[in-house]
Amino acid sequence: MDSVGVAAAAPDAGPGPAWQSKCPWGAPSTTSISCSLADVMSEQLAKELQLEEENAAFPEVVAAAEGPFITGENIDTSSDLMLAQMLQMEFDREYDAQLRREEKKINGDSKVSISFENYRKVHPYDSDSSEDEVDWQDTRHDPYRADKPTTTPRRGFIGKGKDITTKHDEVVCGRKNTARMENFAPEFQVGDGIGMDLKLSNQVFNALKQHAYSEERRSARLHEKKEHSTAEKAVDPKTRLLLYKMVNSGMLETITGCISTGKESVVFHAYGGNATEDDKVIPPECAIKVFKTTLNEFKNRDKYIKDDYRFKDRFSKLNPRKIIRMWAEKEMHNLTRMQNAGIPCPQVVILKKHVLVMSFIGQDQVPAPKLKDVTLNSEDMKKAYYQILNMMQQLYRECNLVHADLSEYNMLWHDGKVWLIDVSQSVEPTHPHGLEFLFRDCRNVSQFFQKGGVAEALNERELFNAVSGLNITADNEVDFQAEIEALEKMNEDHVQNHGKKLSTFSSDGDPPIYDE
Ligand code: ADP
Ligand code: MN
Repeated sequence: MDSVGVAAAAPDAGPGPAWQSKCPWGAPSTTSISCSLADVMSEQLAKELQLEEENAAFPEVVAAAEGPFITGENIDTSSDLMLAQMLQMEFDREYDAQLRREEKKINGDSKVSISFENYRKVHPYDSDSSEDEVDWQDTRHDPYRADKPTTTPRRGFIGKGKDITTKHDEVVCGRKNTARMENFAPEFQVGDGIGMDLKLSNQVFNALKQHAYSEERRSARLHEKKEHSTAEKAVDPKTRLLLYKMVNSGMLETITGCISTGKESVVFHAYGGNATEDDKVIPPECAIKVFKTTLNEFKNRDKYIKDDYRFKDRFSKLNPRKIIRMWAEKEMHNLTRMQNAGIPCPQVVILKKHVLVMSFIGQDQVPAPKLKDVTLNSEDMKKAYYQILNMMQQLYRECNLVHADLSEYNMLWHDGKVWLIDVSQSVEPTHPHGLEFLFRDCRNVSQFFQKGGVAEALNERELFNAVSGLNITADNEVDFQAEIEALEKMNEDHVQNHGKKLSTFSSDGDPPIYDE
């Protein structure tokens, strides 16, 4: 943006540049971009003048209302709220005028007429803060009152001597209450109380009023919920800014909507832009995983990261917000390892704070189904099983990782194969609980495919050995698990004694070396 440069060049550059003479608006005469105090003052003056005009144009409203909006002296133009309210009032009046015109048009000369009265926006300003009290000055639509509210006796009674009728008179009051039900929201059915001369006691009226208000609020809340469920509003303002920046920079074309809201993350779909990050080509469709910054959800995940030596030194120094970024970082690193090993998984595009952009598994905004949601024929089921067995081995041996949340929920079926996702919690096998996590993964996979009718599917213990290359011989789950824990303990002891962890549990072959 060069607006500053343009403005600066204008005043003493002599004969203006060519575009100036061509410009239909002429050359800019002053360089002043920001408002001066005088401008602000005159703006205020203009508003005041307009208000005066308004007051003249809508005298009856001004006279009838008694709230803080009101007349000349106490207008506080410095308040944004007030201005907004006044503007709203103005809109509402216009809306009402339109309603009146339509009412007239529809009714024409007909003897039977319909009234839009209930749909009008401008109601007498409810200055009564306590909802338990009937507010007595509320009179604009009260058919039992003279039009001019000034004739309302402020003292609360009319008449003289014996004929005094106080404002508390039951009949007057009852009718008035009935009439005032018209002020309830239009969708609140009040029936024809006036027609049958219904007299509502204050108590009943107040209860109804309360109910009408809470109904109104409820429907407003529902409406709000709907609006807030759109892509933008599902994240906090800071995250929204991050997302906007990604779109602004051209990295993303558009963010279309939310794919999933989990406890710990929200995932959006986006179309990739043309701008490249570090010469990387942005995939045509992207998934944006936003790690939630509400901390309590992450508490139970401490154990994954706290004991992960890769993050150990940093963990203690970090505040919770940074720990959440670390989840995103972990997912990125783990995905990169998997990518390098050729395991089908989302490709990392970019990581910004707690927001991870990766390639989208799916097409035309439709995410690939999770394995739990897709019905595969037996052939594909078998194929998927062997693929997963293979991926688990690759993950363990080539990536030095245990998924740690592997199940039919975190595997997608796309392009005739299984894709692994959701690896923020993945750990290395020598993590103090790494083998337990692996065993849990194996149990999930075994059970899913055994239930799915894959006869060849190994049981969880066989699968564990096949993936890890360990040879745990226990033939029941309890013993098996005990041996796993013994191995983990051995590793911990090794760390204690030698100050470093075992590279791998497997005794045969060289330990793999991994650089990131
Ligand atoms: P969570 O921790 O909330 O389970 P996931 O990484 O599993 O986070 O993502 C949640 C859901 O979002 C997934 O089940 C999947 O449907 C969808 N999803 C996540 N990443 C992708 C992606 N790269 N492509 C398509 N869909 C994805
Ligand atoms: Mn998941």
